Amino acid sequence: MRVLLVGSGGREHALAMALACSPNLTELFIAPGNPGTAQYGKNINIKVDNITDLVKFAQDNHIDLVIPGPELPLVKGLTDACQHAGILCAGPSQAAAQLEGSKSFTKMISDAARIPTAAWKEFTDSEQAVAYLKTQSFPIVIKADGLAAGKGVIIAYTFKEAEEAIETILQDNRFGEAGNKIVIEEFLTGEEISLFAFCDGEHAVLIGAAQDHKRIGDNDTGPNTGGMGAISPPPFFDHAAQEKALDITVRPMLREMIKRGIPFRGIIFAGLMITNDGPYLIEYNVRFGDPEAEVLLPRLETDLLDILYNLSQGKLKKSKIKFSDQAGICIVMAAKGYPGTPVVGGIIKNIDQAESIPHVKVFHAGTNYNAQQELCAAGGRVLCVAAFDKTLKQAQTTAYNAVNKINWKDGIWRTDIGNKALKQ
Ligand code: ATP
Repeated sequence: MRVLLVGSGGREHALAMALACSPNLTELFIAPGNPGTAQYGKNINIKVDNITDLVKFAQDNHIDLVIPGPELPLVKGLTDACQHAGILCAGPSQAAAQLEGSKSFTKMISDAARIPTAAWKEFTDSEQAVAYLKTQSFPIVIKADGLAAGKGVIIAYTFKEAEEAIETILQDNRFGEAGNKIVIEEFLTGEEISLFAFCDGEHAVLIGAAQDHKRIGDNDTGPNTGGMGAISPPPFFDHAAQEKALDITVRPMLREMIKRGIPFRGIIFAGLMITNDGPYLIEYNVRFGDPEAEVLLPRLETDLLDILYNLSQGKLKKSKIKFSDQAGICIVMAAKGYPGTPVVGGIIKNIDQAESIPHVKVFHAGTNYNAQQELCAAGGRVLCVAAFDKTLKQAQTTAYNAVNKINWKDGIWRTDIGNKALKQ
């Protein structure tokens, strides 16, 4: 099978590695890819949101299956465009991708499907939004409706903060079109986890659960990032709890989407708050998380290509899906300055030494080669060092040993990934 994988992060390196294990893979292209994905296929210089060129490439190169990594091409209609061209795509249609592209859409679906979620209201008018605030207690959560790269959610602890958030989004247009509408919702407390499943429209098959570490600094301090590390599974959330959460927060959504004529086929990533009353849905993403993919995919013991091919045709039941029950952890190594302006160009050495430690894999994200063909940093999040073992503690020790082997003077990373889970 000829495959086009779309994306360029650590997640796509992990996807490429898993796809390369398939006996059915004949050729893999990655658009645009990175030096890590290039170990498994041919990188193609097309941006992830250039739908026209992606589809043209797929047609010209007789691609059998397109696999989108990030959300942007999905929200921009890559799956629909592939379908028009008669090419299978392992991701949701543009209409179904609204589950990530519009927070009010997800809220509406959740209510219709009776999925537990924070009480909410949507507004386009700031005066009406402020009037509603007067009836609410604090903290409260204000969200730009559309995609805002993780920055469109403001937790307001006072009336004044909430009022300012409404003004910033609705009047000052901080998030452009993504902020034409806002959702105001009740603040939930509990433990946050991410749940992943393969969905073929009708069926959802569990991939696993993970916990991300969003803040840049140890002990969850400093600004938010794309994710500085992840663990899987969260020790307090075993397989039975994950299956139960899937029943409560994902399967009813699939039924509701079918009712509306927009079945969801792809990877669902449900962001959950585990409250005293059980799991509440915070958000859906319509693809793997990054760095969560790097701790989930290496544990897949069956054929990812077979799974995604069947998923894209609504026939997930034909696939064998099995994950190992090892614990996984990954540590993101970012460039100094991240999440502001990262220092790029620094030379990175000794990845091979890190990978010589058993059960370690180093995934590339923002890396490239300089004119001297030396590997160097080319972005904010640069490497993701993953380790797998019987226990989270063992995996954590191994992962940090591997991080310490890597020679890169501009690298920064958290030293406490997994600590919170280990204390639970
Ligand atoms: P963006 O759309 O800007 O990319 P996002 O998709 O990451 O943002 P959410 O996942 O909805 O946005 O929210 C981001 C974070 O805010 C959550 O991971 C959670 O920590 C917090 N959060 C969101 N909603 C609530 C809530 N109702 N109660 C408590 N915390 C919340």
